[in-house]
Amino acid sequence: MKLYHNIMEDLVEEYYDDVASRQNICTCERCRNDTIALALSMLPAHYAVTNVGNKLSKLNSLRRQAATDLQAAMFRSIDIVAAAPRHDDDEFLVPVEE
Ligand SMILES: [Zn+2]
Repeated sequence: MKLYHNIMEDLVEEYYDDVASRQNICTCERCRNDTIALALSMLPAHYAVTNVGNKLSKLNSLRRQAATDLQAAMFRSIDIVAAAPRHDDDEFLVPVEE
């Protein structure tokens, strides 16, 4: 059974949703996924085996450690996606299996 997970994904998703609620950017599914994928590619993965109890404390400590890098990666990604949004592409996308 797979118990490990890249908790940077949780932080990037959380941060994207926070920024998107305050900025005037396209938040369609394609742009959201493109922006999050780009930002994650710019950031180091941070894998952890977490249970419900310690997930919050791991997230909080990584959130503090990675704040500056997370912000830089997010704003770069938002700019890149805004400059060339792919929401009109017909490219077939396969959902990631969890
Ligand atoms: Zn869009």
